[in-house]
Amino acid sequence: MTPTGVHGGAGPRPDDGASSFSSHHGPRGRFRNPWPGTELRGFAGLLRWGIQRRLRGVPPDPPVDSFPRALPAFLPPGRAGLAVTWLGHAATLIQIAGRNVLADPMLGQCASPVSFAGPRRWVPPGAAVEELPDVHLILLSHNHYDHLDAGSVRALARRFPSAEWCVPLGLATTVRALGVERIRECDWWEKHGGGSLTVAATPAQHFSSRTPFDRNRSLWCGWVVTSARHRVFFAGDTGYHPEFAKIGRSLGPFDVQLLPIGAYEPRWFMRPVHMDPEEAVRAFLDAGGRDRGALLPVHWGTFKLTDEPMDEPPRRVRAAWEAERLPAERLWLLRHGETRGVD
Ligand code: ZN
Ligand code: ZN
Repeated sequence: MTPTGVHGGAGPRPDDGASSFSSHHGPRGRFRNPWPGTELRGFAGLLRWGIQRRLRGVPPDPPVDSFPRALPAFLPPGRAGLAVTWLGHAATLIQIAGRNVLADPMLGQCASPVSFAGPRRWVPPGAAVEELPDVHLILLSHNHYDHLDAGSVRALARRFPSAEWCVPLGLATTVRALGVERIRECDWWEKHGGGSLTVAATPAQHFSSRTPFDRNRSLWCGWVVTSARHRVFFAGDTGYHPEFAKIGRSLGPFDVQLLPIGAYEPRWFMRPVHMDPEEAVRAFLDAGGRDRGALLPVHWGTFKLTDEPMDEPPRRVRAAWEAERLPAERLWLLRHGETRGVD
C-alpha cells in the first residue's frame, strides 16, 4: 500500500514467478498496459468510428424503460455473510463480513464532465446516496466519468466522512479535491488490510483520462475484497488480458466475480479496453470459475456508450454461459437494484 498521494514503485508481486510482461509503469509518470497488442486507437480511429456510424448507422435500442428494476434488500447492520446489490452500470454494493463496500459508485445522471451533454442514465440508480446503508469502504477502478462521478463522490464524502477510499495510483488528488479525506492509493497487486477485510488491487487492461491533457496519468485496476469466509473479485473496466488466471490463483477462489460485459462495439475500436460478453465468460473461467462462484455481469444497461444495442450484452452473456454448460444458478444477471446473497 502506498501512502496517500505518493506514487510507489511496482508493488509486491505474487510469488508464482516473475511476470513475463513489461511494466505498467511507462515513461514520464504515465501508465500503460503491459501486454502486447493492447495499443489504443488514436484520433484517426475515433474519426473512422464516427464516419462508420454515419454511413452504416447503429442497430436499434430497446425502449428506454425496458429494463426491470428491483428494490434492494440490503443486509441489516452487523450481519455476517455476503450479499451484493447491483446499483446500475459498474456501481455495486458488496456487503461482506458485516462491512459495506461500494465499488465504482457512479450514481449521477450524466456520465460526462458537464450535465447538459454526454451519455445520460437510462435507469435510476438502484439506491441514491441517502438510501445506502452505512458505507465503510469505497473502491474506485479508474477515473472515467461512468465510474468516477464528481457529484456522487461529493455526496458520499459528506454522508460517510469516515469511509476509507481505495484508488489506483495517481487518483488521490482528484478524489481529495472532491472532499474525500481518507484515501489509499494502490499499485497492481498491492494489498491493504484493515479490520476484518483485505483488499488487493488487480491488473486491468484499460486507460485513464478526465481531460484532454491527463491521458494515463493515473492508473486503472480491479479489486479483490477478502474476508475470513468470502472473496469477491470486481474487475473494473477492462479488455480481456492474460492475467485473469493469475488473479484467480493469487487471490481466489472467488464466491462472486463482477465482470464488465458491455461497451464493446465496434470491436476493432473497443477490444483493447472493453471485454465483450464471450470474453467475460472466458475471464470468469480463467479466474477459477469453472467449478465454483457466481458471475455478476456489470457495465451494461445503464449508459449508452457504444454501438451495440443496450439489451444485447445480457443476451450474449447468457448464450456464452450456456455454451460452456455452466449451471444457470451461478449466472447472476440482476435487475437494477437487485440484491443477491450467499449463505
Ligand atoms: Zn473506463
Ligand atoms: Zn466504463
